[in-house]
Amino acid sequence: MPNTPNTIERQYQLIDTEKSKEIIQRAMDLAREEIPKGHVATYIPELGRVDPHQLGICIYPLTGEKICLGDYNVRFTMQSVSKVIMLIVALEICGRKKVFEKVGAEPSGEAFDSLVELDMNNDSRPYNPLINSGALAVCGLLLPEVSFQDMLRFSREICSDPGITLNEAVFDSEMKTCSRNRSIAYLLESKGIITTDVEDTLRFYTKMCSLNITAESLANLGKKLANDGVCMKTGKRFMSSRTARIVKTLMLTCGMYDGSGTFAIMVGIPTKSGVGGGLLSVSDKRAGIGVFGPALDAQGNSIAGCKLLREISNVLRLNLFYDPEWNKEDEEEDSVAVDMIEASVGI
Ligand code: GLN
Repeated sequence: MPNTPNTIERQYQLIDTEKSKEIIQRAMDLAREEIPKGHVATYIPELGRVDPHQLGICIYPLTGEKICLGDYNVRFTMQSVSKVIMLIVALEICGRKKVFEKVGAEPSGEAFDSLVELDMNNDSRPYNPLINSGALAVCGLLLPEVSFQDMLRFSREICSDPGITLNEAVFDSEMKTCSRNRSIAYLLESKGIITTDVEDTLRFYTKMCSLNITAESLANLGKKLANDGVCMKTGKRFMSSRTARIVKTLMLTCGMYDGSGTFAIMVGIPTKSGVGGGLLSVSDKRAGIGVFGPALDAQGNSIAGCKLLREISNVLRLNLFYDPEWNKEDEEEDSVAVDMIEASVGI
């Protein structure tokens, strides 16, 4: 048996702002190299107008100062990251039983807007709440309970960002081109999963996707999830710790669509992506992280953002399964920032 007396202690070491800033800057430079390999989403025409070269990050440790770099305060649309907020509210208002009567908790292995699997088996429920079909099912539950204004208020509060607004241009643009989501929603109605008005449900879902946020607002949300649903500053509880646990688990297993498994291996931090280029990551008990990088990979995940998180996970030891005994050779393969590891966060 290797002698690893301080495993837990070492896992939860504090993130040192000054040391980390330098490391993260290096990781940003490296991640930027990925941008030319990606593309902004164009199936929502308004998103096609976004500058793909932007990259920003905000890391908000549970104890310590925020670390903000690059385009961390540029506004962009939340897109699928809003599925996390919708799930939190649905679990809190409707309860676990009702939610999982309508939607499963398994990775789909399909694209985020897929509808093939919906009609393939006896279980008519969408695979999970973090893909389009699952989130539309969740919206069907939410619609009789809360208004969009309620959701906007809640989003502002949980993201500690009163500046969140509806991006009307993106909303209009997506409503004109959302035939796939419309098809999914009507299919769900035919199966009795959605019992609310389909067009209203679709509008509610698309509005939530069109909320203008920043990487910093995502870090604020991530920090509350990392702290089991409680705001460190005010002590306000935004969700039960059970809800926080379910959400974080689904982020790890399903948050990156059909890229979730690889991402979990390479990064090991529960994360939810959106085609606006946002990434919400939760390093449990340590930090909330928000990333913005609108150039996307084939799965619709921020290409530079994923690289950035991979580097940061390595150098700040944020991988959920991090073990101090990890073979140095593996690390060298996994990160070019190896030379800075010794200097980072007291390792
Ligand atoms: N609004 C987008 C859609 O429904 C969200 C998808 C995403 O971010 N992956 O297609």
